[in-house]
Amino acid sequence: MASPTKPACLLCGQPIAAGRPAIDCGGGVCICFSCVETLTSHMFRSDVGQQAAAHIANQILRIHPEMLPAAAKAVPSELAVETMPLSELPTPEKLRAELDKYVIGQELAKKTLCVAVYNHYLRLRQKTDEDDVEIEKSNILLAGPTGSGKTLLARTLARILDVPFCIVDATTLTEAGYVGEDVENTVLRLLQAADMDIAKAERGIIYVDEIDKIGRKTQNVSITRDVSGEGVQQALLKIIEGTECNIPPKGGRKHPGQEYIRVNTQNILFICGGAFVGLADIIRKRLGASVMGFSAIEDGIDGSEIPEEEALSRAMPEDFFSFGMIPELMGRLPIFSPLTSLSEDQLVALLTQPKNALMRQYEKLLAMSGVKLKVEEAALRAMARQAIEHGTGARALRSIFERIMLDVMYEAPGNARFNQVTITEGAVLGKAAPKTAKRRRP
Ligand code: ADP
Repeated sequence: MASPTKPACLLCGQPIAAGRPAIDCGGGVCICFSCVETLTSHMFRSDVGQQAAAHIANQILRIHPEMLPAAAKAVPSELAVETMPLSELPTPEKLRAELDKYVIGQELAKKTLCVAVYNHYLRLRQKTDEDDVEIEKSNILLAGPTGSGKTLLARTLARILDVPFCIVDATTLTEAGYVGEDVENTVLRLLQAADMDIAKAERGIIYVDEIDKIGRKTQNVSITRDVSGEGVQQALLKIIEGTECNIPPKGGRKHPGQEYIRVNTQNILFICGGAFVGLADIIRKRLGASVMGFSAIEDGIDGSEIPEEEALSRAMPEDFFSFGMIPELMGRLPIFSPLTSLSEDQLVALLTQPKNALMRQYEKLLAMSGVKLKVEEAALRAMARQAIEHGTGARALRSIFERIMLDVMYEAPGNARFNQVTITEGAVLGKAAPKTAKRRRP
């Protein structure tokens, strides 16, 4: 029986012997790995070729993970992800100015995030063999009430930097083998946000929401494993720290014989956020206990009197441990910033000032129907007060505004009766309908 023709390398013509690493391009075309190495090393010598080389190398790792050790050596670490030229990387000040266009208040969080994010993308440029100093990854922890802008900050930063971004809810995650989402699926989401471009995903940002909800339940005396708490924290810490993940391309559970996409999370920035209800009390207790007899007494400070925001700004790792976060995970989230609940003034500003402020959006919508929108200051304040009463921060504002605007949005298109609407305090409080008028256009 005639033996089938042995495949040869498309570039050097050498036969591909059994066990010799090669890439099967399909249709009987193969490229041997030494040719790939030569090719990529040539490309690394030119700036233009570097990103392409990193991309090729990532594709190779994806198709042939068994080549990882050799291939990884061939790809300098800072080129394993696409990096933007330093001149294009916005400085912390520029990032902050851009954030200010979308996010109201949260000054400390903005500053902390801008510096951390800038340093993170500087870190991706470090050449590990240059000197002994290796800049470590600094993931970020944001603690603040719901609707204070944690997600918005992370999302806006990703947009400014033009990097892939995704949000995952920590409460839906479970350890492998339990019902729920595998932690690796968070990386799949990022990959999907990057249009399955591995190199792009590997420099993206993942926002892990509700991180406080996976705190260890200390009072949990169950002999079964703590599925929702510590186990998930353990699983998360590996990807947050940086690891090679094998991701099932279609998500879901892993099973033997499945093809995986290999993604390295070493350069993915994780921003974790949570409300951490009760953390302020833990901090107050510690402060009250630790300052007993010292300056606090002299200054007349009682731990229990420290306002929530100030207490949070004095958070120490041990407070998070008492809350239920495991030390290993906290160790991977070295940058911390508290966020404050938004004041009435800030909520009013939020309705009118940001680039995509709710009022601007409605102004635009109504203008398309030829109607001019006016919202009285007293009405804005009434909405802000209602949002504060709801206790869900800025989140409530949208539903409040939408409720008030419903009738107007229903009647405005194509009507001949009015071309101006004024939202009054009475309309917000449900005591009167919004004022409508017919004005002659200048
Ligand atoms: P969190 O993640 O803190 O619970 P989000 O960032 O999801 O809150 O905020 C919910 C919505 O409220 C956002 O879509 C945004 O429109 C608005 N919002 C919240 N905080 C701010 C803020 N500081 N500045 C501007 N808008 C905000």
